[in-house]
Amino acid sequence: MLFEASRAKAIEKLDHFIENNLTDYSKLRNFDLGPEGRSNVSCLSPYITHGIINEKEIIKKSLDKFSFAKNEKFIQEVLWRTYWKGWLELRPNVWNDYLIELKKIREDFKDNKEYLNAIEGKTNIECFNYWVNELKENNYLHNHSRMWFASIWIFTLELPWQLGAEFFMQHLYDGDAASNTLGWRWVAGIQTQGKHYLASEWNIKKFTNNRFQNIKLNENAPPKISEKTYSIIRKDFSNPQDIQGKNLVVFENNLSFEITDFKENNFKKIYIVAVKNENRSIKLSEKSVEFKSLLIKDQEQRLKDNSMECEVIDISEIKNIGNCFGLYPTVGENLDYLNSNNIKLDFLYRKLDQYSWEYCNKGFFNFKNYIPKIISLQKVSL
Ligand SMILES: Cc1cc2nc3c(=O)[nH]c(=O)nc-3n(C[C@H](O)[C@H](O)[C@H](O)COP(=O)(O)OP(=O)(O)OC[C@H]3O[C@@H](n4cnc5c(N)ncnc54)[C@H](O)[C@@H]3O)c2cc1C
Repeated sequence: MLFEASRAKAIEKLDHFIENNLTDYSKLRNFDLGPEGRSNVSCLSPYITHGIINEKEIIKKSLDKFSFAKNEKFIQEVLWRTYWKGWLELRPNVWNDYLIELKKIREDFKDNKEYLNAIEGKTNIECFNYWVNELKENNYLHNHSRMWFASIWIFTLELPWQLGAEFFMQHLYDGDAASNTLGWRWVAGIQTQGKHYLASEWNIKKFTNNRFQNIKLNENAPPKISEKTYSIIRKDFSNPQDIQGKNLVVFENNLSFEITDFKENNFKKIYIVAVKNENRSIKLSEKSVEFKSLLIKDQEQRLKDNSMECEVIDISEIKNIGNCFGLYPTVGENLDYLNSNNIKLDFLYRKLDQYSWEYCNKGFFNFKNYIPKIISLQKVSL
């Protein structure tokens, strides 16, 4: 599997998927046929996470090819991500608490043999070991394997979900505070309280096309319990009026300025922000750091090719830029840095997020009902 770090390659992948594989997506998407057999899913997440291509662009292209009815499953999946983002925006303390718990657990488990064996792929569960190596090698796992992996980690290896979520964040090219933290919480049974995801031998066998045998798992574990509940914190996601002629700061989640809602605005200069590992709570693998840095370079080059004034800066340098707006980085490491260093930025929010996040107060099944409305508000015709 190859994730080439450029917008041109991302578009190629998107177009190829829509042209050749989208028709069978809903039928085949749950099969993990191994890294060489990924045509049943789009493999776009590393690009979407970094804003190299965005949800609106993907949905529009898919609707240019097929009707909404034929595309519904794919569109729903694309907007799951938007939903998770909004869910976390309304409850940012889920992320804050996660990092606090992680810090303590990391210390408690630093010499734990089961944990060290797990992250080295040295357990007695063959499929799990395989996915550990695949994750480190390809920096991607199929959605079903992420579910099985997290379930085995939590319920068979009996390791804390917080450490598993950290391990994913370190290696996944699509590592995202919302999708990852909430995905792990969901498997554990604390996202939808009392409902957990239990991986089973038959399910793994069936959906991996019998690539693994003799899988001994704890298939009867009860869900994890969390005493914590989170009430919604309402935030104002409206945009300021006058944004012409100022500087713009973009973070690692919006690395294609040319497709943002603000592309027509006249910014004086665009600053692309890089974040070093020393400024992250979760230290990324070398490959993940490299992937981000190549995506940043690709954005810089594209802006230069369009004769736009731009510069790559370290996040610590933002405080030296006057008169600027920032494309909202969303709950996660970048926003944490700004908050903990008391850097105040006026944010610009994407229309898609403004429309969608108001429906993230309840579950995804409720959110789903609003998808046609959200899409039509994006001026993508159904
Ligand atoms: C424990 C766990 C951890 C996860 N961590 C992340 C993460 O850090 N970053 C991340 O982007 N996704 C995460 N996911 C969600 C999902 O597994 C990936 O988005 C998906 O596998 C990406 O592959 P794809 O692009 O081929 O997906 P496709 O099936 O082709 O879907 C298209 C797009 O829809 C979105 N999407 C699909 N499924 C989901 C989902 N279940 N939740 C949210 N968005 C989805 C993604 O943006 C994806 O690129 C996690 C899921 C689990 C169970």
